[in-house]
Amino acid sequence: MRSLIVANWKMHKTIGESVAFAESLKTIHRDPHECDIVIAPPFTSLRPVADAVAGSSIGVAAQNLHHHADGAYTGEISARMLVDAGCQYVIIGHSERRIYFGENDQLINQKIKMAIQSGLVPIFCIGETLPEREQEKTYEVVEKQLKEGLNNFGADDIGRLVIAYEPVWAIGTGRTATPEQAEDVHIHIRQVMLAKFGDMTASQIRIIYGGSVNAENIDKLRERKAINGVLVGGASLKVESFSKIAGY
Ligand code: PEP
Repeated sequence: MRSLIVANWKMHKTIGESVAFAESLKTIHRDPHECDIVIAPPFTSLRPVADAVAGSSIGVAAQNLHHHADGAYTGEISARMLVDAGCQYVIIGHSERRIYFGENDQLINQKIKMAIQSGLVPIFCIGETLPEREQEKTYEVVEKQLKEGLNNFGADDIGRLVIAYEPVWAIGTGRTATPEQAEDVHIHIRQVMLAKFGDMTASQIRIIYGGSVNAENIDKLRERKAINGVLVGGASLKVESFSKIAGY
């Protein structure tokens, strides 16, 4: 399975800064690279970044989408607009969306549905909070998020799905899950997916890890077979650190 490295820039970078990053990444990127590389800039930079990486295998992701196809939803962005802006992927259910924008599993389910219908690959984020981990509820929490987020999907729908296991306590905190902790949950997620969707589909899904990944801890995470890539926030903002994580 090819691993996947995603840069989530969150609400950082102007168009000029985004394009400068994308162009410099493109100069060091080899095609084919040993893993798939995807950049998730803010909405305003999607088209400029897509143009900057055109002709390479670097992919582009949005950080969110609206669950309806179109309509009177001031300030929102549809899946069709994202495809039009050059995206192939979309991050859905990031813990910052769940915490600051009240997104719940039902809404996330509708967003994943919309992404799949529109030909976008959903990067579906799940993960437990610190109190949930301390109460040993990690498996229970991720199972619920998977069950509700993927409610009413069949094996045919989820062939290209990516699941990002992102323990909330490790995001932007500098506190990474140990490779053992991450791998343990990844194995559990894979088992849940196998039970729900069968071997043919569930064994192809990439399960990536996110939470304070950086150039120093990437090698240990990479050694773990059950970790099929990483979603990187803070350390993806500089070409130097991101390129180390991406293995250039
Ligand atoms: C993220 O935003 O998905 C993330 C993992 O952030 P950070 O790498 O900064 O913890």
